[in-house]
Amino acid sequence: MIGAGGINLSSANSKLAGDNYQTVQAAGSTVTMKVIVTGTGGDVTKNSHIKKNIPRSSLNSQVIALAKKGTPMVTFGNGSGPRVMIVAGVHGNELPAQIAALRLINYLNGKSIRGTVYVVPFVVPSSTARNTRFWNGKNLNRVSNVAGTPTNKILNLEKQLKVNVLGDFHSTRPGGVPGKKSVFCSKAPTYESYNTASYISKKTGSALIAYKKAGTDYPGALEDATNLAKIPAVTCEVVSSHGIIASGSVTNSYNQMLALLKYKGVI
Ligand SMILES: [Zn+2]
Repeated sequence: MIGAGGINLSSANSKLAGDNYQTVQAAGSTVTMKVIVTGTGGDVTKNSHIKKNIPRSSLNSQVIALAKKGTPMVTFGNGSGPRVMIVAGVHGNELPAQIAALRLINYLNGKSIRGTVYVVPFVVPSSTARNTRFWNGKNLNRVSNVAGTPTNKILNLEKQLKVNVLGDFHSTRPGGVPGKKSVFCSKAPTYESYNTASYISKKTGSALIAYKKAGTDYPGALEDATNLAKIPAVTCEVVSSHGIIASGSVTNSYNQMLALLKYKGVI
């Protein structure tokens, strides 16, 4: 039970059908989850920092069980717009956003929303489990434009689902690049990326880092590849050393996620 208005996702009312779980809420809105990429699965609770900080709920237990089979995605809503996708764990050792995404899943569970929210809390559960940055030696935020990679599969899914905006949530080391709480965007070819980032920046005190054109510096970044596909996208960063969870970093990441949902009028 997740507070007032929450629902109890007991095994009695959630069904496992292959890789698809579904439960129908009393209010008529739907929570579903499924594996969207295979070959990425792992037990994220093997990462002690993740295990210690998981916001407990039966829904999150189901997400973590599903992550053993591949990249899980939890959907709130029936596909109606606005459609927002929230992604965490492109870099497996950037932990705050992955915990923030689980917190968001608990928050959205049973809540009345306008539109649809797709939450991908762990892009590569096996990397998260090992607390490692790369997938098969690859930086997944450089190969979103390469067919067959997990981030490219997410890009294709965004197109298929007609996502209206993508938020990709990361963390940055103190003294790293950018080394500060921030939100990246570009003004072309998708100016709405800049509008979205401006809003998140103001709401959360995140530095606004705006590029003139998507893809000039990081063509394979998920944000850039998404903006180049004319789907508005931003990358949000909070400060935390890799492989750990700095104090306050989960809340900072979570607030960036909420700001994105508020900007689209979902909450
Ligand atoms: Zn990152």
